[in-house]
Amino acid sequence: MDVLINEAKIQSRIKEIARQIEKEYEGKQLVFLGILKGSLPFLWELAKNIKNDIRFEFIEVSSYEGTESTGKIKINKDLTESITGKDVIIVEDIVDTGRTLTFLKEYLLERKPNSLKIAALLSKPSRRVMEIGVDYIGFQIEDKFVVGFGLDYDQKYRNLPYVGYIE
Ligand code: 5GP
Repeated sequence: MDVLINEAKIQSRIKEIARQIEKEYEGKQLVFLGILKGSLPFLWELAKNIKNDIRFEFIEVSSYEGTESTGKIKINKDLTESITGKDVIIVEDIVDTGRTLTFLKEYLLERKPNSLKIAALLSKPSRRVMEIGVDYIGFQIEDKFVVGFGLDYDQKYRNLPYVGYIE
């Protein structure tokens, strides 16, 4: 396993984003809406560095067969609390083609949150198929398949404290 972004770099970048969010949402209650399962470590590291009242919500999605052509996303586990009128930040591990977030943003906006932003630990801009604005990005990376810090290969490696790749 080769290390792409080490633990110290991840932690310090997350702290920077946390400070930015704290400033932008001063004194407000927030909902961190994590996309299962890969967002968990990022969501937690971000949340524990922010003093606001943060509520956690989770949604689990997967791609239908043939997503490359249709871009259809299926919801496996939906939200359990209403997000209407709330300030919501979607927390995601990585933005690749942008299909998941484009679908989710539209789906969540139907529920009329007060505001909706997106935080992603990683982004692969060269892979983008759908234009999606990401408000907080940890790191832009090249087109490599990465694992660790929530990201898996066949459900493995999610608990690595760094982001790595397999040659
Ligand atoms: P998108 O809809 O943006 O194409 O895909 C987002 C999802 O694809 C991510 O949540 C993640 O599950 C998966 N994904 C994209 N690139 C990678 C990668 O390099 N490594 C891993 N483990 N998953 C990835």
